[in-house]
Amino acid sequence: MIHKRNWLGTIVAAAAAVLLLGACATTGARDAADDDDDRDRTRRVPHALAALESIAQANPRPWHTARARNFKIAYHAHRELAERVVRRAAALWQTTHARWQGRAAAASDLSCEVTLYNSYRELVVMTGGSPKLGEAHVRHSRLMRGRILTCRINLTADDHHLLDATLPHEITHIVLGQLVGRRVPLWANEGAATRAERAARRHAHRRALVRRALASGRAYALADLFRIHIYPASAWQRRVFYAQSFTVVDLLLRLGGHARFLRLLRAAHDSGWSRALSSVYGLTSLQQLEQALRADLAR
Ligand SMILES: [Zn+2]
Repeated sequence: MIHKRNWLGTIVAAAAAVLLLGACATTGARDAADDDDDRDRTRRVPHALAALESIAQANPRPWHTARARNFKIAYHAHRELAERVVRRAAALWQTTHARWQGRAAAASDLSCEVTLYNSYRELVVMTGGSPKLGEAHVRHSRLMRGRILTCRINLTADDHHLLDATLPHEITHIVLGQLVGRRVPLWANEGAATRAERAARRHAHRRALVRRALASGRAYALADLFRIHIYPASAWQRRVFYAQSFTVVDLLLRLGGHARFLRLLRAAHDSGWSRALSSVYGLTSLQQLEQALRADLAR
């Protein structure tokens, strides 16, 4: 009974914390999306808390923690998996930094909190019915030169691609947030994170999807893709958004490497995409990038 009360108290407090966090935490460019989610979550709280209670009664287990360098993981089952995840997160953080900036991560006061839920269903309940919250969140300080104030990742133990796709994806969001030091455009953030997933077969499917979308006139014009700051509403549009973002980031990284892509993001923040593409990649226009993308997909 003591465990049941502790566990219930912990998850109710955690749910409240996530609800509060959602009001300020973003993954780079997700401010508006989170604002919308916040309104929805507020309406769903009583329902979510009732569901939490039923889950707690069915799973009377306390939370435990494990640590590795800058990462701490909370879990209430799956100890072995949780320990693997937190060690892997710390290692990925180093290798992702090395890939993006050409050297290992400098000593950092980053403190990232990972939560490993038992299932996707539990995650949805804990986040007030908003599955998009089950991802990485970083929050920058505007007053302290973009230093990350909040870093949090929600994961689920029933994710079949937890270690080979989801974790590298979420760690890339965090590293990009650190290296760019400011709001990362949604397409760039998701394109880069999707590219980090170790699944060549899924990448081939994404390229095929973009080819179909282009052929049927349902792909995004790049000028529109670059302006998106809220995740598309329909499942089809979301799939095209992720796939097309992946193909654009993939092309730019193959053309100029990671350091140049980071320069593009910083330059675009200051002077817009057309000027940034011209000064960093020597492209005359967005249309030229669009043509290069079509040619690359046709190969
Ligand atoms: Zn993502």
